[in-house]
Amino acid sequence: MLERNWREGASEAEIAAAEASIDLEADEFECPACGHAFEKAGRCPACGLNLGF
Ligand SMILES: [Zn+2]
Repeated sequence: MLERNWREGASEAEIAAAEASIDLEADEFECPACGHAFEKAGRCPACGLNLGF
């Protein structure tokens, strides 16, 4: 689904940062509310935010 064209002009660090911020397939997920990193779950164990997955 991701467009690849933009990567041609991006550094490896930029690509890594972009993928890290949007990779919802990763085992580790960072809560958008409190920043707590946890394994993918429906609810943040730190603040209780319901992430809907
Ligand atoms: Zn949280």
